[in-house]
Amino acid sequence: MIYLDNAATTWPKPECVYQAVDTCLRTMGANPGRGGHSMARAASMLVYETREALAMLFGIVDANQLVFTHNATDAISMAVFGIVRPGDTVVTTAMEHNAVARAVRVAESQGVTVKIVPCSSTGQLAMEEMEAAIREKPKAVIMTHASNVTGTIMPVAEVGKLTKKLGVTLLVDAAQTAGVEDIDVAAMGINILAFSGHKGLLGPQGTGGLYVQETINIRPLRVGGTGSLSESDIQPEFMPDRLESGTPNTPGIAGIKAGVDFILATGRSKIQAKEMELTNLLLVGLRKIPEATVYGQQTAHGRTSVVSFTLAGRDSGQIAHLLDKNYNIACRSGLHCAPWAHQTIGTLKTGTVRLSPGYFNTEEEIGQTLVAVRELVAQGG
Ligand code: PMP
Repeated sequence: MIYLDNAATTWPKPECVYQAVDTCLRTMGANPGRGGHSMARAASMLVYETREALAMLFGIVDANQLVFTHNATDAISMAVFGIVRPGDTVVTTAMEHNAVARAVRVAESQGVTVKIVPCSSTGQLAMEEMEAAIREKPKAVIMTHASNVTGTIMPVAEVGKLTKKLGVTLLVDAAQTAGVEDIDVAAMGINILAFSGHKGLLGPQGTGGLYVQETINIRPLRVGGTGSLSESDIQPEFMPDRLESGTPNTPGIAGIKAGVDFILATGRSKIQAKEMELTNLLLVGLRKIPEATVYGQQTAHGRTSVVSFTLAGRDSGQIAHLLDKNYNIACRSGLHCAPWAHQTIGTLKTGTVRLSPGYFNTEEEIGQTLVAVRELVAQGG
């Protein structure tokens, strides 16, 4: 199979990730933080080391401010419902995934004002409007680091400068960028960072995380056993226990650790450069097909490895189906859980075909995919 659906979840994973999950289940299968015996201690150590590794990767000073979640969606919901109260205003963008859009819509139904800053038809944020919205001192700006539809990288650091100056909380959805793009929470002015463990970080599905700056108090969405202060029926105030209740996904966390180790050993910028190269090949190849419309910026610069396109007069779902059935190419079609972004780029009715290369794809695979798309065009409707 040619797997070009890495924006949904990366596959394959590095060999060390499979091994780490297996080893964890076999030799560290006890409950971390919930027992004094040696296997529970080994599991706790693994969780601790993974927290530290992620903190290093994202420039987080205190690793305890980072908690593990089920995925980026879980992390975003924890953050939105943990900080926003009726009467608050939140500012977001017109390129958000439903992980943000649906959370802020629920908040809106509870009395929160939601302002959506528009983006251009290529997905670029209207910075002047964002600036004006921040100047009104909302409770928070909630924005994606990169669109999962066009790959457009948002000016998070620029926004972060303004939010920091005006004391506004900046919550960033790094589902598409964690592990691939450079993220430094302090340098970029990010107060809260939500990320997936199963995409760029190369860990297993059902993993993610949330970083919360020390000064921000998040009301926990879930409460319960933390292995600490067991004599009390009140949720601990301290992190990470405050936001981490119940048995964690230790095998998943082991997988994230192995994924981060792989990224550090390979070099994050080498991974990013390879993905950009493959993305560029796709963009150049698709632009040569007159029937194809490519969305977002037309070059690989300023975008992640996500390429959305349509073919004139052809149904996107049908194209993805034929790529799978006739060519064994895995991609995604439709709205990619991001109707706002499709509204912005003008594809709400048609959806797009999304090709998202990952580090393990090859130039040959991109070449074969372009041949397949050209053949589909030649075969007509
Ligand atoms: N935000 C964006 C921009 C995404 O691309 C995704 C995944 N499609 C999510 C949030 C949700 O991530 P997860 O699947 O880890 O919940």
